[in-house]
Amino acid sequence: MKRHSLHHLNRLSILCAAVSFCAVVALAAPGYALYGDPPNDTHPWAVHDMNRPRPPVITPATASTPERPGKAPSDAIVLFDGTDLSKWAADRNGTPTKWRIRDGAMEPARDSGDIQTKQDFGDCQLHVEWATPVKVQGDSQGRGNSGVFLMGRYEIQVLDSYQNDTYADGQAASIYGQSPPYVNACRAPGEWQSYDIVFRRPVFKDGQLTQPGTVTVLHNGVLVQDNWVIEGPTSHMGRTKPEPHGDKAPVKFQDHGNPVRYRNVWIRELAPRNPDGTVGPDASKEAVAAKRKEIAKGIRKDAEKQIDAGEKVPALNTLMESLQYDKDETAIKSIESLSGGYLDELKKLDKAAVQARKGEILSVLGGFKFLARHRILENSFEPKVKLEAFVAEKGLEEKR
Ligand code: MG
Repeated sequence: MKRHSLHHLNRLSILCAAVSFCAVVALAAPGYALYGDPPNDTHPWAVHDMNRPRPPVITPATASTPERPGKAPSDAIVLFDGTDLSKWAADRNGTPTKWRIRDGAMEPARDSGDIQTKQDFGDCQLHVEWATPVKVQGDSQGRGNSGVFLMGRYEIQVLDSYQNDTYADGQAASIYGQSPPYVNACRAPGEWQSYDIVFRRPVFKDGQLTQPGTVTVLHNGVLVQDNWVIEGPTSHMGRTKPEPHGDKAPVKFQDHGNPVRYRNVWIRELAPRNPDGTVGPDASKEAVAAKRKEIAKGIRKDAEKQIDAGEKVPALNTLMESLQYDKDETAIKSIESLSGGYLDELKKLDKAAVQARKGEILSVLGGFKFLARHRILENSFEPKVKLEAFVAEKGLEEKR
């Protein structure tokens, strides 16, 4: 684990220079370590915690134009890029589909039947572009009808809803039979349109629904479904209730007898919202406590390395940092011993040498003060009291 102390403080001070209250806080804290509010029962990390893992870096998607499909983000599974249907089948057995590719788009041929991904998906972000036939035929549900079925069950309706009236819960971007879109954001027939869908599957345990499924949809970039709670599998004319199913199932596009075209289809599998029980409103205190111990253990390993390398002051700061995750008695003993040696060393220095190390000394004291302020150490913790006395004696405190 990389440690972050004084030079980060400097960078932060510069960063905060424009925000006056921030600069004051930054000066009082030993860098990013022991900086924001510390971990608690439901948060394994501090606020602004440099020990918190950074998200993976990806290359984002590029936008499509009417003429050209964009590119998927680097961490997406590309389901269709205009060249082949190798990710798709007619059914779960992998029977080859009769859908065909024309001008970089896929579309059903006569009596093709639905098409589905060979791979199964659960929670996901799905990007789909579609276009209804240029030649307008039929009306209401008979015009440019298809559909995106999440887990093969939950339909986001695809329909030519451009100047084509139908029932609200069956127009384009509706959760078919359940929820009309907030607005009709349909483009004209033949024009490329997009769905960006965020889907959280329903979770079942022992045949019972334990977490309802939800779906959010942007149609041509416009929010049309916001965390809609899925009632049950899509049905025509009937109201449905949750029906237990597995964790993953194919994405399906509907063949409703109209040659609706699709292009630039990609999907990103989403991790569960709270994968190890340590984040969000459902965080478990036991899981958070275990995580805090794990983080502290990693930090104390770094402190051991610093001690081995003779870096005593950094080791002292590192051990103090570890206390906010786990108030470990052995670590406190090491802090007492290191700061005892530290103070002895400081007392031997002449005035100029003490002045030269002012920043470092105040940084160590800042750590003690932080831990006392957040009741992780007592205000009367001896190393803190002694260092405070030394700082006062030498007149090192910052003038405010
Ligand atoms: Mg449909």
